[in-house]
Amino acid sequence: MAYRSLNPFTEQTTATYAEHTDDEVEAALAKADDLFRSDWSQGDIAPRLAVLGSLSGLLTDHKDALARTMAEEMGKPLAQGQGEIELCAGIAAYYAENAASFLQPRVLDSELGEAWTEFHPVGVLLAVEPWNFPIYQLIRVVAPAIAVGNPVMFKHASIVPRCAEMFEDLCRQAGAPGGCVTNLRVSSDKVAELIGDDRIQGVALTGSEGAGSKVASRASEMLKKSTLELGGSDVFVVLDDADIETAVAAGVEGRLANAGQVCTGSKRFIVQEAVAEAFINGFVDGMKGAAIGDPLDEDTVLGPLSSQEALETLVAQVDEAVRKGARVLTGGKRCDRTGFFYEPTVLTDISRDNPAYYREFFGPVAQVFVVADDDEVVTQANDSHFGLGGSIFSGDTDRARKLASRIQTGMVFINTTTTSMPELPFGGIKRSGFGRELGDVGIKEFVNRKLVVISSA
Ligand code: NAP
Repeated sequence: MAYRSLNPFTEQTTATYAEHTDDEVEAALAKADDLFRSDWSQGDIAPRLAVLGSLSGLLTDHKDALARTMAEEMGKPLAQGQGEIELCAGIAAYYAENAASFLQPRVLDSELGEAWTEFHPVGVLLAVEPWNFPIYQLIRVVAPAIAVGNPVMFKHASIVPRCAEMFEDLCRQAGAPGGCVTNLRVSSDKVAELIGDDRIQGVALTGSEGAGSKVASRASEMLKKSTLELGGSDVFVVLDDADIETAVAAGVEGRLANAGQVCTGSKRFIVQEAVAEAFINGFVDGMKGAAIGDPLDEDTVLGPLSSQEALETLVAQVDEAVRKGARVLTGGKRCDRTGFFYEPTVLTDISRDNPAYYREFFGPVAQVFVVADDDEVVTQANDSHFGLGGSIFSGDTDRARKLASRIQTGMVFINTTTTSMPELPFGGIKRSGFGRELGDVGIKEFVNRKLVVISSA
């Protein structure tokens, strides 16, 4: 796709960007590979952690400018963008403070003699990232990579080129040497070519199943490790002992944040019969009442979708769902105004043979299912091709804890919507991908866990 900056609120294009030429990409890769072979990557961790510390401060200093750019390029309401940057600063600070301990050699008990595992960088990583969290998606890969010593070349989504440039620039200002973090504007074909280059030693992709499948198969073909953070259709479970007011507020927030374009957004609402009427009435009212408007306006809750294509996809998905029998409790169409806005929508009566049942709706569209008991919650929750996150609302945390263990997904949150924190490993199972980012687990995805043994014989 062509790289361009188009404001989804005004529908006006503000800038277009040329792709990097083959020569530019080759020079960037050579520089990254040189850096990998230098003291920067192979030597003491302290200078790398100092860069992360500075990057954390710079992200905080540039919070407003970054949030404004995200609003202008992909429509994220300002306050939500500011929250994203605070999280990013936290992730950089978290690895600055903890990476040295995570990467300490681990002593192993062995009959052979003294044995331990060391953690070493593997080489240049290629990151392919989506637009929905334009800075957070980058820092999830870049911060641990800097700590480990792996240079990163990232191909960001073509609709957020200014965000990509700003991030690369902040890394440079933080002291990252040339080749450490490189923004590439390249095509999918070029990504496939780069994965075939021996200097690239790992591939991290966050995005759709289609892109994940293409990139991971290419990585497998070239015998490269990959991690995939893909889509989700997270459950939002309301048990019959839940505080309904709390659940309603969380449900509306969980479905409307970032205009519903969150991989871990609350998408399938599974509500027990005893509280179904109360929850659904409150939820529909909350969705209807959300303030829709300019993402730069601080009162806006629901901004536009990120692009014309995103809007057209959602319109087609909901129209098809309704044709196949879904009932619309509120919303169900594009907003009658300039900008790529879609009405907050609640659908019910979605049968298993309705294509909507197994699909991810990447926009402000909720699916509601009513079930009788805890076993039915589990059956309904697990009847999905995805397995990313999910949440359970209940007044009885022991009961919720038991249910959490039975839900087949990478993450479950009790009495809060799925969220992300620097210290919590993030990722899914099934068609939501493989591998984890963040926490102590995420930093070990692209390391050489080198075993060293001294024979006692
Ligand atoms: P997408 O179309 O897959 O795009 C993601 C990135 O992949 C973009 O940089 C895109 O470049 C690139 N890409 C697309 N096709 C490619 C190919 N064949 N080869 C190489 N690169 C390719 O995803 P999206 O629709 O923008 O993002 C939304 C999806 O991401 C949703 O399914 C969402 O749930 C998922 N997501 C998952 C997570 C998670 O952590 N699990 C987080 C956020 C989003 P262009 O922009 O140039 O096409």
